[in-house]
Amino acid sequence: MMEQILIIEDNDDDILMIKRGFKKGRIGNAVHCVSNGKEGLEYLSNNPDKGIHLILLDLNMEVMNGFEFLMERLKNDNLKSIPVVVLTSSNRHEDIEKAYILGANSYVEKPLDPDKFIKAILSIEDFWIYLAKTP
Ligand SMILES: [Mg+2]
Repeated sequence: MMEQILIIEDNDDDILMIKRGFKKGRIGNAVHCVSNGKEGLEYLSNNPDKGIHLILLDLNMEVMNGFEFLMERLKNDNLKSIPVVVLTSSNRHEDIEKAYILGANSYVEKPLDPDKFIKAILSIEDFWIYLAKTP
């Protein structure tokens, strides 16, 4: 079974950067993208056997934002155990605190510099895919 990473992100440029980062790593083919929290929940509930073991979550999105997604995730035992990395342009202290309170497993501010953005994705991959044990 191919393990997947789910990207919940509404910015096409950021999606491109994230995919480019994962392609530079070793898991370029295992990425699925949706554009808001509601689509993320739908994808997760429609694909319980996909073996998704990491979610990258934007905060600012239409329809259902990242905080709302985290709240729904906490209500669902099947989703609670999938690690979520918040990846956002917000560096507000309130957002960081709220994300962790709502169960985010880490919080990364999107670097503005493209090279640093790629490096951040590679670091996330190194830690969450190759080092950390996940369910
Ligand atoms: Mg956004």
